[in-house]
Amino acid sequence: KKQQQQPRGQGKKGEAKVITPMSEDFSRWYLDVVRECQLADYGPVRGTMVIRPYGYALWEGVQSHLDKAFKETGHQNAYFPQLIPLSFLQKEADHVEGFAPELALVTQGGGKELEEPLVVRPTSETIVNHMFAQWVQSYRDLPLLINQWANVHRWEMRTRPFVRTLEFLWQEGHTAHATAEEAEEETIRMLKVYEDFAYNVAAMPVVSGRKSRIESFAGANCTYTIEAMMGDKRALQAGTSHNLGDNFAKAFNTRYLDEGGQLQYVHQSSWGVSTRMVGGIIMTHGDDAGLRLPPRLAPIQVVIVPIVKKDADSEAVMAAVKGLEAALKAAGVRVKLDASTDRTPGWKFNQYEMKGVPVRVEVGPRDVEQGTCVVARRDVAGKEGKQFGVPLEAEPFVGHVSALLDDIQAVLLRQAREFRDANIVDVCSYDELKEAVAAGKWARGPWAGSDEQEKQVKEDTSATLRCFPFDQPQHSGTCFMSGQPAAEVAIFARSY
Ligand code: AMP
Repeated sequence: KKQQQQPRGQGKKGEAKVITPMSEDFSRWYLDVVRECQLADYGPVRGTMVIRPYGYALWEGVQSHLDKAFKETGHQNAYFPQLIPLSFLQKEADHVEGFAPELALVTQGGGKELEEPLVVRPTSETIVNHMFAQWVQSYRDLPLLINQWANVHRWEMRTRPFVRTLEFLWQEGHTAHATAEEAEEETIRMLKVYEDFAYNVAAMPVVSGRKSRIESFAGANCTYTIEAMMGDKRALQAGTSHNLGDNFAKAFNTRYLDEGGQLQYVHQSSWGVSTRMVGGIIMTHGDDAGLRLPPRLAPIQVVIVPIVKKDADSEAVMAAVKGLEAALKAAGVRVKLDASTDRTPGWKFNQYEMKGVPVRVEVGPRDVEQGTCVVARRDVAGKEGKQFGVPLEAEPFVGHVSALLDDIQAVLLRQAREFRDANIVDVCSYDELKEAVAAGKWARGPWAGSDEQEKQVKEDTSATLRCFPFDQPQHSGTCFMSGQPAAEVAIFARSY
């Protein structure tokens, strides 16, 4: 049904405008961007998606940065089977209870009923522990630091491309440690890896913190999260890191001999970032014209568009743009020269603007004569975003463009941070929370409520407790719900 939606409104020169303005309908804007930028399409099974090359390139950008960071922190990649015996999930009580409603089961294989149903993995703690129990014998085998890049299935009811799908791509880290302290350290270390990636690569100013009991991972002692604010101010849980304690170790008998020759359970962490991150990037930075991609993740950082009206101009212009392309490539910039002749330069400008390419370079015959080109930045709309007279000479040109990419990266982060800070409201009473949430904002206030009271907030306002942020005020005060002294403030918001 969604695919049949008609383009709405008219753009300049009578062209159909295919992206709904954000202010009109944010959800529709998002779906329009996903479709028009060819990031993803709907799969034939409800809730599944096909990730198209441009969307996949964005995911590969996420992957390459995170993979490097995992390896730098001592982790190794491995791969576990996607099919897990159902009995494995049943070994950890909270885990199976939490995941049961979302499980996809395989009951037949090769035309025969299976003796035991198999679970299509929703996450891999169980099968990982089945193996860790065999791999870990003594304290010398610890810590065990494994990551897996994989797909997982969760039978979600409400879905949205990238943000929440039945099948998604992710990485899941799984570690085992000798002590509870080391497991906690690791859990926080990896959350910080996510936080660093979010700020410095995705330009997403996330709020890091601890989840409430209700919102924690099924089977974890404690879940930490990075929460991002989207362009409609809703919260997105962009990544999580769990301290699993010895819960799975006890269920799977994952033990080691300590230095004194005593058998001990390992303490574990697990952590994941998924293709949801791509949705987060779209909804953090996008504007009415489409995507705005942070340069460090943009599959194309710079597009060069030659402007040739007469054949006679072609040779000089093409020589110039090829020179610029080569210079940028040599400097490690991801550049695309679009010299196709079947589209007008104006069409190309719109296309790459919509696709969020951070920098566009225009070169026409007059520019070549003057030894200059025009450089347009995606983050600043219209004429103000254009720089004239940028030298065509390789060295100053590359210097200019590199500095511009850095600046765009910084501007996107700054804008998102200002937006975030302008939309978090400190509240002292439940009424103030309701007011803030009704205005679409995040509410931050002292919280010492019970699980029931937390559920009550959700029922009344549809806002959930996003996290107890690490960044806490000096004095948090009295819980706005229970009236009890509160040791911490919590953030409540509507979320994806
Ligand atoms: P979890 O291990 O359950 O905390 O999941 C790790 C991360 O995967 C979460 O923090 C989300 O960002 C992401 N995630 C969870 N469910 C989905 C889903 N259905 N589609 C896409 N991403 C998801």
